[in-house]
Amino acid sequence: MGELRIIPRVPYGTFSEQIHARSTQHQQVVKAQLELTYRCNLHCRHCYTDPYNNPEFLPRELTRDELYRLLAELQGLGVIWLNLSGGDIFMHPQFFDVYEHAYRRGFLLQLYTNGTLFTRATIQRLQTMPPFTIDVSCHTLNEARFDWFTQVPGSYRAFLRGMTLLRESGLPFTLKTKLMNWNKDELDDLRAYTESFGQSFGYTTSLSPRLDGDCSSLTHRISTEDLQVIGQQEPASEQGEACHAEVPLGRPETDRLFRCGCGTNTIHINAWGELSTCTFQYETRVSLRQVSLREAVARAFTQVQNLRYQRYTPCRSCTVHQFCDKQPSQARWEMGDRQAPIPYDCDVAMARAESTLHQTLVHPLKRPSQGEQHTS
Ligand code: SF4
Ligand code: SF4
Repeated sequence: MGELRIIPRVPYGTFSEQIHARSTQHQQVVKAQLELTYRCNLHCRHCYTDPYNNPEFLPRELTRDELYRLLAELQGLGVIWLNLSGGDIFMHPQFFDVYEHAYRRGFLLQLYTNGTLFTRATIQRLQTMPPFTIDVSCHTLNEARFDWFTQVPGSYRAFLRGMTLLRESGLPFTLKTKLMNWNKDELDDLRAYTESFGQSFGYTTSLSPRLDGDCSSLTHRISTEDLQVIGQQEPASEQGEACHAEVPLGRPETDRLFRCGCGTNTIHINAWGELSTCTFQYETRVSLRQVSLREAVARAFTQVQNLRYQRYTPCRSCTVHQFCDKQPSQARWEMGDRQAPIPYDCDVAMARAESTLHQTLVHPLKRPSQGEQHTS
């Protein structure tokens, strides 16, 4: 008989830290986001996937059998955390087939949903195979504004019904708020609502162009002036965005176009079965209908890791880059150039850096560029 091997028990936080450190060091993929569908019952005004929530595009989406094969490949690759997102996951016609298949494969499942589609039946089915967590978007508690923003009358009432069911269910969930120019005055109400579920409140602010390059979603951005005022009242409240508390100033150590850690331990697969390193990396995608998952990861990581700044731009030597949310794909849509700075992101990065470091800094777009020319 073989020797009995005891697997040590460790707290979840320790397990997660160890796996993240090891996977980053060895470039082992442990996290994946899988968009099951672009279908959604809502049409939020800031939504980047909404252009493909259209019958014309639905035939391109992965079938259930393709998703089953993909789940097997994800397990084989060593993925631990699997985020199922959309669109809205509950709009996928075979959601529970796919979900339960994924559950049986042992992933820690994180579900993204708008919260309006919960029913007693869906809650009961989730209770039999509980996810690791459910993230529900909550951007306003005002009925008229909710329905205006989602462009679907009655959506606020559906959201409240869903939240009542979720509250009673015992399932683990978290509310996510995005602060924008139209809901910034609701901060106190949103905080109180989140805290009423025993959760701590936080928010994110970044918005992205739509997947087809339409930048109208960005008109909902909160102004940097408002962000500064709120930041002074609400220190360190950013949720889900980078923690900048101990970040020093300094020029980037590398000329890589993607300096965010893209291409280390995380992958994103869109509803059409195209893989890349993150949700917002639109251009460098590899079709999983043509190559294996392992091959697609190798190709996408190599491509993204090899992209470099080719000429001088303020981003190349920016000393507040660690406070910045700039994504090169976004710069391509918004500024017409992946290497260009995004002025809004510069303003936000400055505000964050000054409030964290308690110093007055020179704005990245106002620094002299002469001495930098040699770096191109
Ligand atoms: S609920 Fe999500 S996927 Fe649906 S329209 Fe709103 S942002 Fe887009
Ligand atoms: S977008 Fe602005 S803040 Fe961000 S890295 Fe470029 S210059 Fe720096």
